[in-house]
Amino acid sequence: MKYLKEFRNPEIVKTLLSRIEATVSKPWTIMEMCGGQTHSIIKHGIDQLIPPSLTLVHGPGCPVCVTPLEQVDKAIGLASRNEVIFTSFGDMLRVPGSQKDLFQVKSEGGDVRIVYSPLDALRLARENPSRKIVFFAIGFETTAPTNAMAVYQAEKEGLGNFSVLVSQVLVPPAITALLESPENQVQGYLAAGHVCAVMGWEEYVPIAEKYRVPIAVTGFEPVDILDGILAVVEQLEAGESRVVNRYSRVVKKEGNTAARELISSVFEITDRNWRGIGSIPMSGFKLKEKYRGFDAGQLFDLADIKTEEHSECISGLILQGLKKPVDCPAFGTSCTPQFPLGATMVSSEGACAAYYSYCRKK
Ligand code: SF4
Repeated sequence: MKYLKEFRNPEIVKTLLSRIEATVSKPWTIMEMCGGQTHSIIKHGIDQLIPPSLTLVHGPGCPVCVTPLEQVDKAIGLASRNEVIFTSFGDMLRVPGSQKDLFQVKSEGGDVRIVYSPLDALRLARENPSRKIVFFAIGFETTAPTNAMAVYQAEKEGLGNFSVLVSQVLVPPAITALLESPENQVQGYLAAGHVCAVMGWEEYVPIAEKYRVPIAVTGFEPVDILDGILAVVEQLEAGESRVVNRYSRVVKKEGNTAARELISSVFEITDRNWRGIGSIPMSGFKLKEKYRGFDAGQLFDLADIKTEEHSECISGLILQGLKKPVDCPAFGTSCTPQFPLGATMVSSEGACAAYYSYCRKK
């Protein structure tokens, strides 16, 4: 298949659904790791088309949602400084901090600017030598290459007024943490195709073997997702647990080697806090020693920031696949995209936003 519409072809969808139905003989729970996949599943009603014995639960793969509250509060603290131009992807501006969000900082006079790439922030640093330009470097392995490139380039050009507030996280350690949890009910995974396009899928092999869970590297269109579900269900029914690549039009086993080399030249692995989940060992990136001069977390005094989640928000349980958005009493009442209480209602990849956008009530 060559064109996007072929991955939404109703006849292929029907064939895949029939094959899934013919394969399933008992209840299974499968997690899609990526928020983009969650949106596609809810938008196309895939969870309502598959056999009722299959349960899809939503994983922690939404970069905005898992950015810890203390990092959002640090971003708000930085953006409130007169000398700073604070730059960020648009989604982050509406994520509630403990007291306010970045939009409110902007409305109060803070110089907060939406950019589409960290390289836009670099340009601002060149154009505004008397200001300090901070970029909010959030995301999974997918954003790490461009964030690494910005820091690499800033160092090369000697742009001392550029820095990044790093909140980069990694998928495999998060999946391992969920699998280690005594509450885990997930038996198979759809791995995020775009993450694997950067990092490859070899990292998932020891996870599949150790925890005996099948993992299918999966894309984002209905045919991709059903094909991934079929690949997982076939293995579950056969008692197998391998990694299979069902997104081979994009993903290679080794990933993008140039991007991986750039990432490892700028970042090193560190423990990271995940919003709603807590600290996960070796689950994120920090800047290497050579680039610490570009670390906003070290350049600015941010130590006195205290954080507190909204008491009604259960997004941590949703990000772990233990609850669904409709299980939250605030869903659609005190929490809406216009007045979000938690990050999962804000982000374009958040599960609560997906349920709200597509009027899902159960
Ligand atoms: S509906 Fe709102 S309050 Fe409830 S979990 Fe989602 S983001 Fe949090």
